[in-house]
Amino acid sequence: MFMKPDGSKSISDPLNVGNDKWKQILSSEAYEVLRQGGTEPAFVGKFTDNQEPGDYLCAGCDALIFRSAEKFHSGCGWPSFFDAALPGAVTELVDASHGRIRTEIRCSKCDSHLGHVFEGEGYGTPTDLRYCINSISMKFVPNV
Ligand SMILES: [Zn+2]
Repeated sequence: MFMKPDGSKSISDPLNVGNDKWKQILSSEAYEVLRQGGTEPAFVGKFTDNQEPGDYLCAGCDALIFRSAEKFHSGCGWPSFFDAALPGAVTELVDASHGRIRTEIRCSKCDSHLGHVFEGEGYGTPTDLRYCINSISMKFVPNV
């Protein structure tokens, strides 16, 4: 682990980090979401209504995962994107928890839980997908 110039902590080899290390790096709230698949409450996340242009990085490993260009207002209470920043930036997994089948989204680099993706909701976006992502799973870097 090392400290970045902006004071945030990160790790150089995220896939080989154990839970104890993750607990040092992340707040308890972030650990519960990123490493235990939790969900932050709706309408409380700091990026839900953020419309600033910029990049969204994984809060676990700083990988670029989403961008403001694909962010849209869904009204669902979590930051919503219609596509990932780059092909392969996020990984999809079948999530059968809570009695229904959903598609979980994780960071491809560090395997942290980010949120879920929903299809065919009729938001009129280019992909008809809604990546519903926890604010606490991301860091925002404004464009300069
Ligand atoms: Zn990550």
